[in-house]
Formats: sequence, C-alpha cells, structure tokens
Amino acid sequence: MTADPLSATDRSTLRRKRERGSFDRAVVNAILDEGLVCHVALAGDGQPVITPMTYARIGDALYVHGAPGNRTLRSLADGDEACVIVTLLDALVLARSAFHHSMNYRSVVLFGRAESVEDLDQKRTASAALLRHLAPGREHDARMPTDAELRSTLMVRFPISEGSAKVRTGPPLDDPEDMDLGIWAGEIPLHVVAGTARPDPGLGTAVALPAYAEHYPERPAR
Ligand SMILES: Cc1cc2nc3c(=O)[nH]c(=O)nc-3n(C[C@H](O)[C@H](O)[C@H](O)COP(=O)(O)OP(=O)(O)OC[C@H]3O[C@@H](n4cnc5c(N)ncnc54)[C@H](O)[C@@H]3O)c2cc1C
Repeated sequence: MTADPLSATDRSTLRRKRERGSFDRAVVNAILDEGLVCHVALAGDGQPVITPMTYARIGDALYVHGAPGNRTLRSLADGDEACVIVTLLDALVLARSAFHHSMNYRSVVLFGRAESVEDLDQKRTASAALLRHLAPGREHDARMPTDAELRSTLMVRFPISEGSAKVRTGPPLDDPEDMDLGIWAGEIPLHVVAGTARPDPGLGTAVALPAYAEHYPERPAR
C-alpha cells in the first residue's frame, strides 16, 4: 500500500475552487472508507451510464462485485475507462441569497481502468472486505461464499491512483451587502443514522442481535 498522493493529471486536477481539492491519499481513503455507496460512470458506446454500487477499499484499490451478466461490471472487467465517485453529504448550507446556497460535502472522483479478480482467495478476501465495509464484524458472522458462489460472482478491482478529493466546510459565503438582510442563514448538519434493527421474520428467538446491528456506527462518527 502506498502513501503517495493521487496523480494530478489533466482530467483529475481541480479548476473550480481548487483550494477545496486534495490529492492526499489519507483524505481520499477516509472519504472512501466512510461512504457506503459509490457511483460508477462509463461512457459506453456514446451512451453515458452511471450505476450506484456497494464497494469496499483494500489498500490502493476499490472492489465492486455482482452478477456476471451485470453490464457495468462486465465493462469494468473488460478494462473500459471509468470514473468512480463517492459523495458524503455533511450539511445543507442556507445563505441569505438564493445565489450562495450550497452544501458541505466530502467527495472523491477517481479515474482509471479496472481489472477482473479471478483468483478465488482474492475474491474471498474482497468479499470479506465488502461485508466489513457494510457492517464491521459481519465478516465473522455471515456464512462466507462457497467456491461455486465466488465463481458465479464478477469481482473487479479499481485502482485508487488517479483522482482527487474535494471538501467544502463552513458557513455560507454571502455577499457583504446581504449580511444585514435579517434572513436566517447557517448550516443544517446531516448524518447517516441507523434506525432500530428489525430482525428477519424467519429468525428464531435463539439468535442474538449482534452488537454491530444494535449499535450501528453513525457516519460520520461524532
Ligand atoms: C453534494 C455536492 C453537491 C454539489 N452541488 C453543486 C452544484 O449544485 N453546483 C455546482 O456548480 N457544483 C456543485 N458541487 C461541486 C461539483 O462537484 C464540482 O466540483 C463543481 O461544480 C466544479 O465542476 P467543474 O466541472 O468546473 O470542475 P473542475 O474543477 O473543472 O473539475 C476538474 C477535476 O477536478 C476534480 N473534481 C471536480 N469536482 C470534484 C468533486 N466534487 N470531488 C472530487 N473531485 C472533483 C475531478 O477530478 C474533475 O475531473 C457539488 C458537489 C457535491 C459533492
């Protein structure tokens, strides 16, 4: 695993509000590890498609998986150029003027070509990482995939090498002449908060609720 910053190429270099940008791998990894959903964008044959997917990070790569017939995964496995993003929404930013309304966020945009993971042990490791990313500890409880299940899963590895993070924090940035308008302005923080776990109706009473389901961690942790 490298600590090197992500590559600042022509397509990954921020032009708008570049002071909000970062190529720092620790910043990028923290955002990737907190997010639950990535969006995978492909250009297709002139038809752009963006697909939301679950993912996990191991070292310098993201793993996404699904059915072998999945078009997005097949395209990734074929090595087509792709763009993967993860967005964390931290607050709504209400300004005095309509013009300056905004959001506080942390986001990552990655570019690159994925590769198919064929080795069953690597697929098993990635499957555990996907479970752990969803609910830390789940990888020790769930029945892990059989070789047959692994063979019928398309797993792809996407490099975390070219891309950037962008982070907005803080209050609205109103124009000086609007500051005394007497209109409320500020931030409304947003968090992903888990509700009370609902046991599957088919579950016997002998099966205890695991700690990660009873106390699912808030994202971001406060
Ligand atoms: C939740 C959310 C809501 C947003 N809402 C708006 C909105 O309504 N209007 C608006 O103009 N902008 C919005 N943004 C910011 C938006 O993502 C772009 O950063 C911004 O619009 C500049 O776009 P651009 O094409 O000029 O970027 P450029 O700076 O030209 O982009 C060049 C490169 O910089 C990197 N980059 C750009 N944006 C991001 C990013 N967000 N995260 C990581 N890397 C990035 C990419 O590698 C990109 O290829 C929002 C961002 C988030 C996360």
